[in-house]
Amino acid sequence: MKMTVIGCGYLGATHAACMAELGHEVLGVDCDTDKVRTLNSGRAPFHEHGLDALLSEHTASGRLKFTSSYSEAAGFADLHFIGVGTPLRSDSDAYDLTHLFDAIRCLAPGLTHRSVVAVKSTVPVGTAPRIAELLRAHAPAGEFAEVAWNPEFLRESFAVEDTLRPDRLVLGFRTSHSRAEALLRQAFEKIIESGTPTIVTDWATAELAKGAANSYLSTKISFVNAMAEVCEASGADVVQLADILGHDRRIGRHGMHPGLGFGGGCLPKDLAGFIHRADELGARPAVGMLREAELVNARRRRRVVDLAQEELGGDLRGKRITIWGAAFKPGTDDIRNSPALAVAQSLHNLGAAVTVSDPKALDNARKLHPELDYADDPIAAAVDADLLLHLTEWHHFAAIAPTRLASCAGALKVIDARGTLDTEQWREAGWIIRSLGRA
Ligand code: NAD
Repeated sequence: MKMTVIGCGYLGATHAACMAELGHEVLGVDCDTDKVRTLNSGRAPFHEHGLDALLSEHTASGRLKFTSSYSEAAGFADLHFIGVGTPLRSDSDAYDLTHLFDAIRCLAPGLTHRSVVAVKSTVPVGTAPRIAELLRAHAPAGEFAEVAWNPEFLRESFAVEDTLRPDRLVLGFRTSHSRAEALLRQAFEKIIESGTPTIVTDWATAELAKGAANSYLSTKISFVNAMAEVCEASGADVVQLADILGHDRRIGRHGMHPGLGFGGGCLPKDLAGFIHRADELGARPAVGMLREAELVNARRRRRVVDLAQEELGGDLRGKRITIWGAAFKPGTDDIRNSPALAVAQSLHNLGAAVTVSDPKALDNARKLHPELDYADDPIAAAVDADLLLHLTEWHHFAAIAPTRLASCAGALKVIDARGTLDTEQWREAGWIIRSLGRA
């Protein structure tokens, strides 16, 4: 099949490459010409495991191309996936749908024949009818330019795997058994045939699916972090507590990581956007617990700053602090709403000299936070440090022997906000180690 993928960021570039891997002929479209050039050279403009290999294989075979031309896109295929960004507005927690509507307005005039526009971007429920209206108004094909909803659940750092082998496939249509459904079933044929649960539903349910999933995942993280607060107050151990809870099949340990909380380009945004939309719809009481999840998440970042102050005698001015981690989670160079950088920024604002190390995200961090210092080598970053903070749990950091650091650090104090350092090993090497939610 031929198809386009409009918006080639973390979601779209991965989707385009994976659709080519499934045997389709794919044209990726992005308004950022630098990104288009990089993608056409067979490389991803960001770090995502396995993506470069797919991009180089399929751009070389000719099955995958990228462009900035909407007229080329409209003529290329009958099926158009949309994966442009949907950030929150700067003046409220409402989604800013400007990029989405712009993309539709640019594509629509070229849709002279029967076509399907399948939106993957995350949106507030109620957006699909607005997209359909816009298409009807601007596409020469009118009613024959159909809208489908295909929310995306991929996790950054597992994006290729999640796209090729998703947990489930959600397809939302205005009416069932439409041409849109036939086309999407054909596009995902290999995935459906491999036994992936496929839920065909209406637009509203498909739109809600992503926001609801991210709200649940955020709540699960905040639940265990709230338990960490109770552990801190009572002398219990949250990692063992999470293990005990996780063995209950109704609860499960997956996605229940106590620590510094969630960040990134999706969870915090989608949680806030979901709450805002529920408010607009008059369902405010239904999302009270989601507001709590946001508050718990913010408190974890403050807790680490408080612990750092406690360890350094209150006044951070002139103190040297090393931070391991800049990415919002391991396996990515994405620093959007990174908990590690939020803590780094707070400590810098309190007067500390902060040096950050991360295996992949330093280039992005340097651009956003020029006020911080950076070091590629995590051991060099810790030279003369008064305090070390472990804020993004790359395996890379947990593998460093604390004895190697002991001779160069200024003081042997570490705060493990992710609970993945070997506490015993660090203690034996002479360090004072404090972990969130652990005695
Ligand atoms: P991103 O910022 O990495 O990518 C968005 C891309 O869209 C950019 O490359 C931008 O240049 C391009 N773009 C913007 N306006 C355009 C236009 N009018 N025409 C063509 N291209 C345009 O964002 P992302 O992380 O890939 O997220 C995209 C959407 O997918 C969001 O709605 C997000 O919530 C959702 N999502 C993201 C993930 C994820 O893990 N990143 C997972 C599931 C869903």
